Amino acid sequence: MARPQTIDGKIDIKSLSLSELTELLVEQGHPKFRARQVYKWVWNKGVTSFHDMTNVSKTARKQLDEAFVIDFLEPAMQLDSADGTKKFVWELRDESHIESVLIPDPGIPGHSKPRMTLCMSSQVGCAMACSFCLTGDLGFKRNLRVAEILNQALQVQQSLPEGERITNLVFMGMGEPLHNITNLIRSLEVLLDESALNFSHRKITVSTVGLVPQMARLAAATPVNLAVSLNATTNESRSQVMPITRRYPLSQLMDGCRDFPLPHAKRITFEYVMMAGFNDSWDDAARLVKLMSGVKSKVNLIPYNENPQREILRPSEDHVKAFQHFLVKRGVQTSIRTTRGIDISAACGQLGKATQGMRIEEAGIEGPTISLD
Ligand code: SF4
Repeated sequence: MARPQTIDGKIDIKSLSLSELTELLVEQGHPKFRARQVYKWVWNKGVTSFHDMTNVSKTARKQLDEAFVIDFLEPAMQLDSADGTKKFVWELRDESHIESVLIPDPGIPGHSKPRMTLCMSSQVGCAMACSFCLTGDLGFKRNLRVAEILNQALQVQQSLPEGERITNLVFMGMGEPLHNITNLIRSLEVLLDESALNFSHRKITVSTVGLVPQMARLAAATPVNLAVSLNATTNESRSQVMPITRRYPLSQLMDGCRDFPLPHAKRITFEYVMMAGFNDSWDDAARLVKLMSGVKSKVNLIPYNENPQREILRPSEDHVKAFQHFLVKRGVQTSIRTTRGIDISAACGQLGKATQGMRIEEAGIEGPTISLD
């Protein structure tokens, strides 16, 4: 068993898989069935105290309370968009902040089902320094613990009216999820566990700037969907906006994608933030077609959401559509992402503004790659 994560000397129960909890409880003299009982209280009922576990004896509850802690995020702010998107700002124990964004999509009758997608953060700040991203300005603060990742899903789910459920999870908020891969994989285990949060691997997408070795490690651990934030078609231009390109050039990244094991119907999503005059020429489109060759892929075009902190311009709607048409005609499955939550600064590239009000020049959470797939 990996060393359990602790808070104030007690074991953080939300950092444990069911088998790890079983092992620990049996070691502490509890009967084997106790772990499943406790796990259900924690993940299905979302209790905040062991004393609420009414089918557990008082003595056992006291023992549990002495050994473990049930961690929760402090809600700091919630913003509701006119289009139904909700932004949740959470305060962590060390007073830093993260954000999660809930994106309801009614679907299109006969074409797509209704969805409720939660975009989750994986780190405080980010080390990847992508130049178009406000979180990149923050630099890296720290990795989120397993409970801090999972509580975003649990607590947003708890905030929903009876009968409504999060259907999809995307790791595209603050941070590079594969830079926190150990806690990410542990979190995925709990998200996928039917006695815990019970999501299907088909409904979870992890987005990366292209940390090639960690992509292989993720694939070996779990079959969730992969999204790659691509955003440019040459090493030179990509290095300008995504410094990680200097470590893993495009050829290495695309080889990693070709080697990524994909079940029959799955494809890797390539996020392409379109920035006028930077990556939206016909030469770029032609190179993008070439890059996609031999990869089971779909391209998601994301017209840049302009903001006062960057001089980057959004291409016209007509140009984005023509760019999509160019790719589709050459056999590349391509969609255009709809901008959501722009009035509450929850759209791609806008996250962090709410937190800025609370932490002045710090803060900033951004999700340039929220996928609506
Ligand atoms: S785009 Fe993603 S990986 Fe790049 S700096 Fe922003 S949060 Fe980090």
